Amino acid sequence: MKEVKIEECPFCGGEQMIEVAISSYGGVSINLVGKLRSAPLFATVCRDCGSVVRTYCKDLERLYPKKERRK
Ligand SMILES: [Zn+2]
Repeated sequence: MKEVKIEECPFCGGEQMIEVAISSYGGVSINLVGKLRSAPLFATVCRDCGSVVRTYCKDLERLYPKKERRK
């Protein structure tokens, strides 16, 4: 996956971002050939104003069967 760098908060200009997990059960799911797979969801939050600047999945490849995964 491509790496995204957020230098500053688009809402308040704050420069300190923290990475949080949405929740231990939150995530995205996909139904591939009858098998439900899921990946955890994370967010980048501005420490100054609390805005969620980005929501993303870290390990999307786990949604795919092993032989279809990108290395
Ligand atoms: Zn902010």
